[in-house]
Amino acid sequence: MNDLIRVENLSKSFTLRRGLVGGLISLDALKDINLAVRPGETLAIVGESGCGKTTLGRCIVKAMTPNTGKVLYTPENGETIDLVGLKKRQMKPWRRDIRMIFQDPMSSLNPYMRVFDIVAEPLRIHKIAKGRELEDRVATALEKVGIDPAAGQRFPHAFSGGQRQRIGIARALVLDPRLVIADEAVSALDVSIQAQILNLLEDLKDDFGLTYIFISHDLGVVNYISDRVAVMYLGNIVELADTETLFERPRHPYTEVLLEALPIADPKRRAGKRTEARGEIPYIGNRPKGCPFHTRCRFAQDRCRNDRPELRKIDATEVACHFAETIELRGAYDSAPRP
Ligand code: SF4
Repeated sequence: MNDLIRVENLSKSFTLRRGLVGGLISLDALKDINLAVRPGETLAIVGESGCGKTTLGRCIVKAMTPNTGKVLYTPENGETIDLVGLKKRQMKPWRRDIRMIFQDPMSSLNPYMRVFDIVAEPLRIHKIAKGRELEDRVATALEKVGIDPAAGQRFPHAFSGGQRQRIGIARALVLDPRLVIADEAVSALDVSIQAQILNLLEDLKDDFGLTYIFISHDLGVVNYISDRVAVMYLGNIVELADTETLFERPRHPYTEVLLEALPIADPKRRAGKRTEARGEIPYIGNRPKGCPFHTRCRFAQDRCRNDRPELRKIDATEVACHFAETIELRGAYDSAPRP
């Protein structure tokens, strides 16, 4: 079966002025990203803020144009197309297939629009339904996410944070998409509400036959919802594996650091000193030469300071580390579902 999305050699940089009178600097937000999204899976993209995960999601949904590379999408007719090269008008039909859910439902929902109109808007933009049919589709989408359609005449501020995120999900689903990119979709919510929204996303995935790209900084959430995980650091994918493998046998020192930061129910499973990365994540305008993680890695050697490691396959994992076969990382993290 074809990949639903295949990202090839994708790079994105931003040009900024240094200070008020300084020269221009180029920031590499994404560097040679290669990634495939399989139909029906939940692929998590995880990393600290500023690692490029949101930029990657926005390039896939074409809210941003990369400098180089391809985003290959295979629609239901089976003919793969590169979304990067499409003009706005050419992209319009595929915007129905690929939808995004955002972190902060309060700022992503227009506060001056009634909930009915917020959910109906994509149907109107794409001229898919009107009149009674439009009303029925909006009501069905709201019901699917647990919002009473009779509340559709209210404004977003009349709803709780969790309910607003449900409305954002209804807006994404009303076009019957194939791929949903959820960008920190539960990060702004209380833990108990997070669990409800994650369970809702799981149910909707089955009901609608969806594929998710789930962008998050929270490995606990990622562990609960994802089938595979891509770990990003400074605009690079440094490790990619199925979720169980990543938790049981991490291969990249940065993944180990992220896993060590997870709270665990049984401290005996993590006897001894925790592994922490040295120092702070470097400013993205000051990307280290060689391995991007070498300034913080406890295993760094001379080669790491000069040669950039490529993503390569070791057993069931893809990892970008020169010494992944020989370094000894702590493993067997608690991969039991969280909520
Ligand atoms: Fe650490 Fe070197 Fe591996 Fe980079 S390549 S993660 S610096 S051991």
